[in-house]
Amino acid sequence: MESINLKSERCKQCELCFAHCPSDAISFSNELNKAGFNFACVDEEKCIRCGICYTMCPDGVYAIAINPQAKGEQ
Ligand code: SF4
Ligand code: SF4
Repeated sequence: MESINLKSERCKQCELCFAHCPSDAISFSNELNKAGFNFACVDEEKCIRCGICYTMCPDGVYAIAINPQAKGEQ
């Protein structure tokens, strides 16, 4: 399923997405991106496609096919 796409090279590890995810679906990689940050990763099994990470990220890392019902539950 291609409902979550991350532009990992843009991540600056600010942790805004991590702090606001309602499903505890976001973690940080052990690898570094080209900018030298541990980039955000999403556990597709935990993610409810609410879109909060997309809204919070200042660097346009997330492209998520949002589930309107999940968003309405917030
Ligand atoms: S879409 Fe929602 S549940 Fe999924 S990773 Fe982003 S904030 Fe977490
Ligand atoms: S909000 Fe964006 S830049 Fe910040 S940690 Fe999450 S993905 Fe990375």
